[in-house]
Amino acid sequence: MTIHHPEPGGRGSGDDLRCEWCRRPLHRQPIGRPKRFCRQSCRQRAYEARRRSTELGLGDDELVVTRNELDDARDRLAEVTDALDAARTDLADGVAAHRVLDRLIDTISSVTETN
Ligand SMILES: [Zn+2]
Repeated sequence: MTIHHPEPGGRGSGDDLRCEWCRRPLHRQPIGRPKRFCRQSCRQRAYEARRRSTELGLGDDELVVTRNELDDARDRLAEVTDALDAARTDLADGVAAHRVLDRLIDTISSVTETN
């Protein structure tokens, strides 16, 4: 039996690094410790969330978010869901696949961009 160990620092090990707060992809640092957050505001939010969850005695699987953050996440998900429905309809209507894909990419890009 062969066990494959991922190579430290090898391809794949850091390519899917994501911000611990917002889950946006992180770019690898050429030197120094790998970044855990994409921006200072994410670091700050994560810090505040950890502090608050400690105060409330929450477990690792529990999280407090503001109503605004939850509404924002729901709005973004709804936009992606609507775009998916539109893409399915367009494909069924015979719209060229590359046009459907372009629209999907545009929508998802705008939804996942910073605000
Ligand atoms: Zn982030």
